[in-house]
This record gives sequence, structure tokens and C-alpha cells, in this order.
Amino acid sequence: MAERAFRKNIGLFDSVENLKGIGPKTAEVLKKYGIRTIRDFFYNLPRDYENYEKPTSISEIRPGKVVIKGKIDSLSTRRARKRNLSITEGIIRDNSGAIKVVWFNQGYRLRQFEPEKEYFFTGNYEFRNGKYSLTSPSAVLASDLDPMSGISPVYVAHGKLKSSDFKRLINNSRAKFAEIPDLLPTVRSGVRKDALFFAHFPNSLKSAEKARNYLAYEELFELILAAKLNRQENDKLKAMPLAFDANKVRTFVASLPFKLTNAQRLASWEIFQDMEKNTPMNRLLQGDVGSGKTMVAAMAAYEAISNGAQVAFLAPTAILATQHYEVFKKLLEPFKITVALLTGATKDKKNLKTNIKNGQIDLVIGTHALLTDDTEFSNLGLVIIDEQHRFGVEQRQKLMLKSPPELAPHLLAMTATPIPRSLQLTLFGDLDVSILNEMPQGRQPVVTKILSEVEIKRELYPKMREILTLAPDAKKHGDRAHGQQIYWICKAIEESGVSEATSVKTRAKKLQELFPKYRVEFLHGKMKPSEKDAIMAQFSDGEIDILVSTTVVEVGLDVPNATLMVIENAESYGLAQLHQLRGRVGRGMSAAFCYLVTSGELRPSRRLLELEKSNDGFYLAEVDLKLRGPGEIYGSLQHGALDLRIASLSDTKLIHWAQVDVMNFLQKPENMLEYSELMQGITKYQQITTLN
Ligand code: ADP
Ligand code: MG
Repeated sequence: MAERAFRKNIGLFDSVENLKGIGPKTAEVLKKYGIRTIRDFFYNLPRDYENYEKPTSISEIRPGKVVIKGKIDSLSTRRARKRNLSITEGIIRDNSGAIKVVWFNQGYRLRQFEPEKEYFFTGNYEFRNGKYSLTSPSAVLASDLDPMSGISPVYVAHGKLKSSDFKRLINNSRAKFAEIPDLLPTVRSGVRKDALFFAHFPNSLKSAEKARNYLAYEELFELILAAKLNRQENDKLKAMPLAFDANKVRTFVASLPFKLTNAQRLASWEIFQDMEKNTPMNRLLQGDVGSGKTMVAAMAAYEAISNGAQVAFLAPTAILATQHYEVFKKLLEPFKITVALLTGATKDKKNLKTNIKNGQIDLVIGTHALLTDDTEFSNLGLVIIDEQHRFGVEQRQKLMLKSPPELAPHLLAMTATPIPRSLQLTLFGDLDVSILNEMPQGRQPVVTKILSEVEIKRELYPKMREILTLAPDAKKHGDRAHGQQIYWICKAIEESGVSEATSVKTRAKKLQELFPKYRVEFLHGKMKPSEKDAIMAQFSDGEIDILVSTTVVEVGLDVPNATLMVIENAESYGLAQLHQLRGRVGRGMSAAFCYLVTSGELRPSRRLLELEKSNDGFYLAEVDLKLRGPGEIYGSLQHGALDLRIASLSDTKLIHWAQVDVMNFLQKPENMLEYSELMQGITKYQQITTLN
């Protein structure tokens, strides 16, 4: 502790521009990639390491990946007969012999090398055009490498900053590592301090691995600490206790149009228990698309309003808010509960806001329009947020602050993105979660099929024809539909320069020609929100038979009469996203289908095969976690991507250590002052792991 206090520490949160060799221009590029502070810069870890410990001597070279240490001469560049291809060739020599080297379209190689200097060349030694040569190797000046180490880090290139630039820049700051304060007090055996240094300047592959292991631990520590602090902060707040009235709830449940699932019962019971307390509920309701979260929210709202509290329900788009409004009105108005809708399009907002303020409105459902300062409540006791990951912390906070002075509202956040259990236990260990892991009765799984593009004509078009002529789904929706309806999801192919608007329009035109009797419309992200809403509303009413769209089509859109979904270029989406998309069909009583169309002749990926097999979002989330790692999943889950640098959430040992150490850390409140860099660094995690 004393040592720490007297050491000269670098300002971790100062701008990178304070580092040697980083001027405003470089800083500008770095900023684009999220590297702003000295801390960001040091924690930009190598993607990989090249091993120069034992270069191959040329006399012993074999085909395959090789590292050669040698000098280069006889460099020349020529144009190949095929146009637009330049070939740069040379000879690499070491003490034992010489080989030919060749680069394609890398003319700068001609000027890169100094004669008489030694370089490490890493590349493939292979047979090409009748002879063996080393093809397109990377090249590093041998004297640039750590003399103690044959290991060289490889960094992800950011814009015009190449791996070698990062290497140079980090090398400039080598001396600064001694000034980096230890973020954490605890050091476990088997992991090392100074890990950050060794991650950039390892003296062996083993030392790099050890260093990364420690940094993973540090990262988990930060995450878990953030979650725990959130919990502590929440527990300090006071809320209005909302008493549970069994008789009233029974009457309400009996009035619902169907029998609740067991999962819905359990979740609402958990919610009722939370709301009885005088600390605010802070609960995440997770359920796959179609699992019936809205009903659970309705029960919570009913309970709060019975206690004289007002309820605010926040939805990400006007169309979802309107859909919820219609459902809630039907359910709650018989109980003399007043329900209002507040979106950008609401007429006479002023009057409505007056009524909210004087308490005449019990439940207001709305979009961002709810968040404005002039929307005031007289007694806001419960906030419900649908698709909570679509809102930023500031937005959620704005709503939470509308409760009476000194009181925080209870919070029910809902999401259709299932969090895998392993993530839940670590990152969300301190969050109260209710899970709807059961579908309402009568729901049929969506029949999913992988199809290659060439099969569209033979297999897909006849299926579409059939769907379009089937009797509309029994559920009251799409009253005006001819038959059942179809979603067709397509994707912009960036590389070929086709914009999303063009690809959607082209497909819609083609389908309209194929199905002239039916109405085909399209939807894409560049359209005005009012245009988008109009198209979605018409599809929902059954006036449109085939909706060609990018992924903008709403997640929560409930159109039970849409029973077929086609996803073009299915291989280009993530598993979670495909599952979400698919969730828009299979919401009624009729059988539903999803065709995953792939462009290549390659074997379908594991993702698609899993999707074909299973309709279970929680199972698929686990698979996704294994296939992609947590960073991306968690990133898509929460507003503001969480970028887990290196930690793996399947590393149970490290997680356990971090959990124990965080508990010990929190035992000593003075730690929070002493480890100020740690506390400052975790605010970003705190924002991500909080619901409110
Ligand atoms: P999500 O969880 O995706 O928000 P919703 O709440 O929109 O799902 O519910 C999907 C559909 O299932 C709605 O049409 C709703 O009326 C219906 N539903 C909800 N709960 C039940 C139930 N217990 N039994 C039958 N249908 C239900
Ligand atoms: Mg929903």
C-alpha cells in the first residue's frame, strides 16, 4: 500500500496524446477505434504473437508456414500478363542457402528493405508456377525485436495504422509501463502483476499466456465489482411498497383471455414479491419472442395501479407502443383503469400531459415522447421497459427520475434476447431475473429449413403460393388478408455495392411479377419513420401479402397471420439475430415456416444447422456463446457494446477467484479510495450491467 501511494503514477485516463510519438493526427485515428485514453491504448492488446525464437534455416526448409531470418537482395517489380497485378520478387539468403520470395500488389516492398540488415520473414513456402518460393511473407526488422525475446506481437490494424505502427508506438512508451498503477489489490498465485507489460513484450509464448490470463482475471473482477456496486446502490434507494392483494389478482387473472403458463405465473409471483418491498424492484424479465411477456407486464401494472400508483410503459417504436396500448386497454379498462398512448404522433399532447400530471391517467404507454421534461407524473410507482437493450442509460434514467421526490419507482425491464445461463451467473449474478422458458399452449414450433438459392424456384415459390391461399389464421389479426402472409428478409451486399434500398426494391419487384394477384411492399432503414410505420401497420392489418424487408422489421411485431418467413443470405447473420427474425412468425395457431436461403454451395454452417434443429432461444444462446464468445452477444444485448477484451466466461476458475476477491475487496471501504483508477475504469461496466 505504501509503495503504491508513493509511486509516480501515469494518468491512465489522460488523452493518448500525452504519450510519446502520438500527435493529434494519430490520436484522431485512434479515437475512431475507441482508443482515447492512455488506458485504452495500453489495453489495446495484441491479437496474436509471432514466434521468432527458432527460425528455420534455409537449407532445411519444407513447404508450409515458415519463419526465415535473413537478408534480402535482387528486388525487382514487374507487371504480370494479367492486368492489375504487380509482382515483386527477390532473393532471401541466410548462412545456409537462398530462396526466392514473391509478393503480389505490394510494390512498397521494393523500398522497404535495407541491404545488409536482417529481417524475419513469415509466410508460406509453396510451389507456384513451376518453382518453390516464399509467398507474400510479413517482414520484421530483426533489430526491432526485443533482444531478450523471439516473440513479436501482432496488433489489429486500425485504419491506416498497421500492426507495425502499433508496435512502434507501444515501444515508444515502453518505459511508461513502470508508472502504470496496479488496478487491483489481489494477486493470485499463477497469475502475474506487470501483466500488461508482458502482454505487449512477452519473452516467451508462455509468458504472454500468463499475462493474458491475469488480464482476463482483472477484467472479470471489474465486471463483477461493477454489478455488485450497482446492487448496493439500488439497495440504498427507497420505493413505494405496493401490497399484494390475492383476491384482486385472482379476479384479474380470471378475466384474461387464456390460461397463464406456469412460467408466467412464477414470473408474476416474483414480481409481486419484489414490489411489496420498500426498496425498488430491479428485475429483468427474459423470454423468447412470443413467450407472453406482455401479460406478465399487465399483471404488474394492474397490481401497481390497484395500490394507487401510476405506471409508465416505455416501448422502442410507435408501432409497438400502439400495439401494447390496444392490448392493455382491452385488459385493463374493464377494471376502471385509464390507459393512454403517448407517441410523437399523439394529438393534443398538452392535454394528455396535464392529465398524467394530475393523476387522471393510471397507465401511459409511449415511446421516447414519454421522456421529455414536461411529461410529469403525480405518483409514478412502476416503470416497465420493453426491449430494454434498445434504450441507453440516460434514456432509462430520465424515466426513472419522474417518481415522487425521495422515491425510486419499481422497474421491470423486458428483453427477448435470452442471456445464456453461464453469462447470467457471472455478469448478471447480481441482477434479479425472471425467465419465461415456456411457450403458451397450442404454439407450434416454426418448421425451419435450409435451402440453397438454386432451390428457390422449385421449392420455395410453390410453398409461397400455398401460404398465400391458406385460410387466414384463426386469431383476430390481418382481417383484410387474402390468405396467410409472408415476410421476405433480404440483405444489402456491401461488397458488390448494392445498397439495402436497392436490394429490397429489386426483390419486391421480382416477387410482384411472380405473384401479380397479391400486394407486395417493401421496407428498409432509409425510409422515413412515418413511412415505415404505415407499411408495418398495413401488413399488420392484412392489407399487404408479402413484405420484403431488411432486418428493420420490428422484433415485437405481432402478426399471427404471417406464417412464412424467407431469410436470404442467411449465412451472413448471427445465430441470435436469425432466431429473433424467425420469432416474427409462429405467433398464431397455424403452422409456420422459415426458409434459410444460402447463396453458396458450401455446406451449411453450424449456426444454420442448429437453427434448423431447435426453436429454443435459451439453447441457441448457449450455442451462440460457444461459437462466438460473449463479447458479441453481450454487445448486442446491451446498448453500448461491452467489449470483453480477453476474458472467457467459460473460465469458471477465474470467475470464482474474481468473485471471492471482489467480496473481500468490498469488505474494506477504504479500497474504493485507494484504487481510484479501478473505480473510474468500471463506470462503463456499471452502466452496462445496470437495468435502470
Ligand atoms: P412477447 O414475449 O414476445 O412479448 P407477447 O406478450 O407479445 O410475447 O405474446 C405473444 C402472443 O401470445 C400474444 O398474441 C399473446 O396474446 C399470446 N399469449 C400470451 N400469453 C398467453 C397464454 N398464456 N396462452 C395463450 N396465448 C398467450
Ligand atoms: Mg413483446
